[in-house]
Amino acid sequence: MGLKLLNTLTRSVQDFVPLDPSGKNVGLYCCGPTVYDYAHIGNWRTFVFGDLVRRSLEFHGYNVRHVMNITDVDDKIIRRVKETGGTLSDFTGKFEKAFLEDLAALQCRTPHHTPRATEHIPAIVDLISRLVQRGFAYQAPDGSVYFSIQKYRGAGCCYGQLVHLNFEEMRTGERVANDEYAKESLADFALWKARVPEDGAVFWPSPWGEGRPGWHIECSAMSMQLLGPSFDLHLGGEDLMFPHHEDEIAQSEGTGLQPEGQRFVKYWMHGAHLLVEGRKMSKSLGNFFTLRDLIAKGFSGREIRYLLLTAHYRETFNFTLEGLQGARSSLQRIDECIGKLREIAAGETAGADDALVRQLSKPLEDDLNISGTWGAVFEWIRETNRKLAENSILPAQAASLLASWEKIDGVLGVGLPSAAVVPAEILALVEARQAARKAKDFKQSDGLRDELKAKGWVIEDTPKGARAKRIA
Ligand SMILES: [Zn+2]
Repeated sequence: MGLKLLNTLTRSVQDFVPLDPSGKNVGLYCCGPTVYDYAHIGNWRTFVFGDLVRRSLEFHGYNVRHVMNITDVDDKIIRRVKETGGTLSDFTGKFEKAFLEDLAALQCRTPHHTPRATEHIPAIVDLISRLVQRGFAYQAPDGSVYFSIQKYRGAGCCYGQLVHLNFEEMRTGERVANDEYAKESLADFALWKARVPEDGAVFWPSPWGEGRPGWHIECSAMSMQLLGPSFDLHLGGEDLMFPHHEDEIAQSEGTGLQPEGQRFVKYWMHGAHLLVEGRKMSKSLGNFFTLRDLIAKGFSGREIRYLLLTAHYRETFNFTLEGLQGARSSLQRIDECIGKLREIAAGETAGADDALVRQLSKPLEDDLNISGTWGAVFEWIRETNRKLAENSILPAQAASLLASWEKIDGVLGVGLPSAAVVPAEILALVEARQAARKAKDFKQSDGLRDELKAKGWVIEDTPKGARAKRIA
């Protein structure tokens, strides 16, 4: 047993062994959002995947330090700030807040650190200075500082660890100021961008004059500052593999700060793309959704999380509204079963059933085979429902099953059934309706039932009294 993960560096599934000699502490870095807009559902797939990795590590007993950066300065942000006429921090603060709210709505564990690029300029400048001293970076006539791929390779270092690059076709001497470029236009990339009039009030002093950092260097500076020059896991969407992650490796390993024989990152993991309604998401096709768009359609963060977690992270996944309906009924099946177990357990507590926990969690050990785990979960639900129908589960057994589910849910994070959390306002209406019925005021009782229905709740009469249940 033990966790095995596909490492993009070696392109093979490897046993996960932390760098920490005690085998306990794990450093995890996930490339975070660029806060210039609301994150879309494709972005969210990557963040939920990051949460699954973290929860899996914690399930295996590791003490994880999870860092997710906030890119709060880049080309796109500066353009938007100019359009709005406000300040950089007013603009990015709004989207950062929204991002963290959405992350919580998707039941993702909060990263331990969410460093902002603009608050790490000295660390970024230090890193660039070190690269300049070591001969891997230079200031160009445009005033910006670039990373020299030729010098780096000349020193025996490898550029192209995650993706295969054809250096024969590389146009030497060419530079790219833009943060995003294709493999075919491989060139020296910007570490520090000299101030231009379009930057407005967004600039910082540096040994190379006023300017701002490039996007790639932000992640190198913040990850190494918070997790050390060499750490365990670095995650992102597959679109970040090149150039972002390749540049991060070059900048970080170019400092020579890693201990002998260690790399900047031991395991790189990449999540696959998302299609929406069978096509690449685009605003013009009408299949572009932010989390907020989906919540406005009546879906919960929990349902969206569940759907995003049904496919393996390396598979292209087709996200559909129909799939969300399916997610809703799957979760209801879980909720009903757990709800019944709760009634039987009636507050009794018991330890988890280790064999059951193992059976449900085992598929995840194989590079997070989540479909295997869901298959096992629903098999277990079927079996439990059969026993419930036979009335053959004793309170202590129910309590043990609940404790086991809680452990598994520590990884899946679909959380408590929403029906279990009944708002006080609804509870008050249910009580008023019961009182009306008792007083044989059926007009009042029916009126209250309709009011509950209008608010999305129905009353179920059970042997233990009336219970509010959310309408699907
Ligand atoms: Zn990054």
